[in-house]
Amino acid sequence: MDKKDIKSMNLSELTEFVRELGEKPFRAKQLYQWMHQKLAPSYDDMTNLSKGFRETLKEHTDYTSHQIVQMYESEIDGTRKYLFGLNDGNIIESVLMRYKHGNSVCISSQVGCRMGCRFCASTLDGLTRNLTASEMLDQIYRIQYTTGERVSNIVIMGSGEPMDNYDNVVKFLHLISDENGLNISQRNITVSTCGIVPGIKKFAEEGLSVTLALSLHAPNDEVRKTLMPIAYKYSLSEILPACKEYFEKTGRRLTFEYSLVQGVNDNLDEAKRLADLIKDMHGHVNLIPVNPIKERDYKQSNREAIEQFKNYLERKGINVTVRREMGRDIGGACGQLRKSYLKKEEGEA
Ligand code: SAH
Repeated sequence: MDKKDIKSMNLSELTEFVRELGEKPFRAKQLYQWMHQKLAPSYDDMTNLSKGFRETLKEHTDYTSHQIVQMYESEIDGTRKYLFGLNDGNIIESVLMRYKHGNSVCISSQVGCRMGCRFCASTLDGLTRNLTASEMLDQIYRIQYTTGERVSNIVIMGSGEPMDNYDNVVKFLHLISDENGLNISQRNITVSTCGIVPGIKKFAEEGLSVTLALSLHAPNDEVRKTLMPIAYKYSLSEILPACKEYFEKTGRRLTFEYSLVQGVNDNLDEAKRLADLIKDMHGHVNLIPVNPIKERDYKQSNREAIEQFKNYLERKGINVTVRREMGRDIGGACGQLRKSYLKKEEGEA
């Protein structure tokens, strides 16, 4: 029999499973609490479950609990970057950002990524595999457990494309916002996508109230194609209506991410086209000065260009922020830390 991924089960699935193992339903509630509220690192921590039951669980299940392989903390702002080891030996990256309004964790949704965005380090080696719901949850659980600080916000903006791992991401969203678990408000969760249209449309029907962020990065398909291969598959004329539908169905304002790359998408003409493109979209623009990766020669726009771009959008009445760079002293853009770690391991092997 295949071992069950117990931490990905919701309470009713768990109750059924516990019954199959010949235990009373209230054991399921205790177990669920240990996993999703007390964030127990292992079955041996679950002291009010009998030794016999714990042994049965070990035999029939895989208990997801990530190992902290490395952790770096920024001296500037307290941001922490984690490299977690999964049960099968894969490595993923997560980030804890500490703001005045609370702690936010950026999680990965896949090991690697197959979207191929030109400026992104997560995709350089392609996709290894999807993460399960429990593997997404445990990035948050291990961070909250080891810091003792409550996590109040989540962004699915680490490695991976959430719409390419749709079912597990939706499962994760239900579990993390479950009142019997960490009960993180869906309104404090953002899912970021490169623009997979059928995924966005389906997501609008889930009855969730999470924020959708679209990685736009260009005001037209032509420029977008030079940065994001997915733009060959879905055009902005399909993506933007799908996003609008998401807003209409959920009432959640959209976020548009726009990474500014010098000489590629950062001139005023592009700002103007961007403003025209999204003026009726009820969205907020998040400008991200591109974080250069050494495998590509993209450069960050200079401060002046960023200011001008931002000011132009503001003058057009568009809500815009420039993303603060968190943890600047602890290395790199999304996926870069994992990549450099894997490289070092290879070199030493
Ligand atoms: N697959 C999802 C999540 C990706 S990461 C998506 O495409 O939205 C979150 C954001 O960071 C995306 O907007 C992504 O395009 C952006 N990003 C990735 N690498 C970057 C880099 N080196 N510099 C700036 N932004 C980057």
